[in-house]
Amino acid sequence: MGETGLDYFHEKKKSHFQEELFYQHISVSKDLQKPLIIHSRNSSQDILKILKSENSGLCPGIFHSFNENYEVAKKILDLGFYISISGMITFKNSISLRSVLKKIPLNRLLLETDSPYLTPVPHRGKKNKPSYINYIAKHVSNLKKIDIEKLSHIIKQNFFRLFKLKKNLIILN
Ligand SMILES: [Zn+2]
Repeated sequence: MGETGLDYFHEKKKSHFQEELFYQHISVSKDLQKPLIIHSRNSSQDILKILKSENSGLCPGIFHSFNENYEVAKKILDLGFYISISGMITFKNSISLRSVLKKIPLNRLLLETDSPYLTPVPHRGKKNKPSYINYIAKHVSNLKKIDIEKLSHIIKQNFFRLFKLKKNLIILN
């Protein structure tokens, strides 16, 4: 289900309309038992409050394109959600994100490109592509000090666990 969530960057203040839709998406996700893909921009406190009040830990999802401090990461993890890292991790100024990543357990981590946005280094400034996931994985494997093959195996396991998919339904290289 998603993307859903709250965005106070594009709509600078609290929006009753956004909140209303978010509540509806949470309810459908729980009914269908499908993970939520959360878009959070300057709004993580409100999102976490709502998820908690709606008992969303019973059907957890992903905080996509994560770019917050460890305090927020910890609350997301405590709720049972996964944290997805995008090309931002490769940006020169993402110093705090890199230190947060080091503390996120591997079994709750996912990787994404958020294509066509947030193109990773060394292609920053150009249009992003799904195939650039390699640059993000390489960067994360260096930061987490884990072999890239091992990392991609763990990420795939996380993906199949969260989406409750059988491995033989999808062929990944
Ligand atoms: Zn988003």
